[in-house]
Amino acid sequence: MTRVFNFSAGPAALPEEVLSQAAAEMLDWHGSGMSVMEMSHRGKEFTSIIEQALADVRELMQVPAGYQVLFMQGGGLGENAIVPLNLLGRNNKVDIVETGSWSAKSRAEAARYGDLHLAASGLRAEAKQGKYTSIPAVADWRVRSDAAYLHICGNETIDGVEFFDFPDMAALGAPDVPLVVDVSSHILSRPLDVSKCGLLFGGAQKNIGPAGLTLVIVRDDLLDQAHALCPSAFNYKLVAANGSMYNTPPTYSIYIAGLVFQWLKRQGGVAAMAERNAAKASLLYDALDQSELYITHVEHACRSRMNVPFFLRDESLNEAFLAGAKARGLLQLKGHKSVGGMRASLYNAMPLAGVQALVDYLKEFEKSHG
Ligand code: PMP
Repeated sequence: MTRVFNFSAGPAALPEEVLSQAAAEMLDWHGSGMSVMEMSHRGKEFTSIIEQALADVRELMQVPAGYQVLFMQGGGLGENAIVPLNLLGRNNKVDIVETGSWSAKSRAEAARYGDLHLAASGLRAEAKQGKYTSIPAVADWRVRSDAAYLHICGNETIDGVEFFDFPDMAALGAPDVPLVVDVSSHILSRPLDVSKCGLLFGGAQKNIGPAGLTLVIVRDDLLDQAHALCPSAFNYKLVAANGSMYNTPPTYSIYIAGLVFQWLKRQGGVAAMAERNAAKASLLYDALDQSELYITHVEHACRSRMNVPFFLRDESLNEAFLAGAKARGLLQLKGHKSVGGMRASLYNAMPLAGVQALVDYLKEFEKSHG
């Protein structure tokens, strides 16, 4: 068996220990005589799995009292509609800060449901490369003090722009406006201050587990603002009241997510992950900064630790670069089709050895092509 270093932005690498455990438990989970995939979601076995997984999210993310943790379906793009349907029932004003391709998508979707106001945008429309490279200065954001919520994307997976601190809504002159954060691609990578947010959501396929599962953390006071047309299966209040089992949940994905949470706890939790992720990211950024062949565009203060987009100054070398990487077992380095270039995703399951192998290759390729 050969395992590669998989730099995919998602679905992404999972910890090998988790995959091995899942393989060992595939046919007979804990003496039940069946796979988790085959269990009733109402039975005591699966109930124990989901309850442990929910408790582990609370512990790992230090979710304060007064918040619900929900397992849902529909992914990040699903939440782009599910959030407005749940929060715009009473007041349909939605504000958004655009820092990359994913918040731009959230903006377009929210505009279908609400009165949308762009509070700030980092778009550099004229740029050929690096259309989003910074977070607009918070002092320049114009948030309506009566908005139903403000949406930001905590980490822009495509553009590599990350918030290291969530904004303080009082300082923005909007103390009563809940902050909604799309944390799809940096959840569990480091401590995130849940108490600053009204709602956080993330698709599972980066730091949590298999695609198909979505994690939502929502403050209790936001459970009563749903639009009359919000589908029941996506209504946070109903999902919360039913312990994330209003409808049949994605049971196997929840089981794998639970194994990932246990793995994270064995690693020392998110604070320990944060240190490792910072070390991995600086190893790669330092190598890129020292080179003449590669270029990055994102401002240093908001460079993502999870997704590192970079470009070859001579783009005619792209194919040769990717072919050489593949030959060394370094896969999925091609940038998103909308931005081109390269992108290395360094989620929790990417070991330092993988980043070191990539850095060695970057240097070797530069020597032979620089
Ligand atoms: N938001 C972010 C930050 C993402 O990275 C992604 C997917 N890469 C999405 C939303 C969309 O997620 P999905 O494909 O699960 O709908």
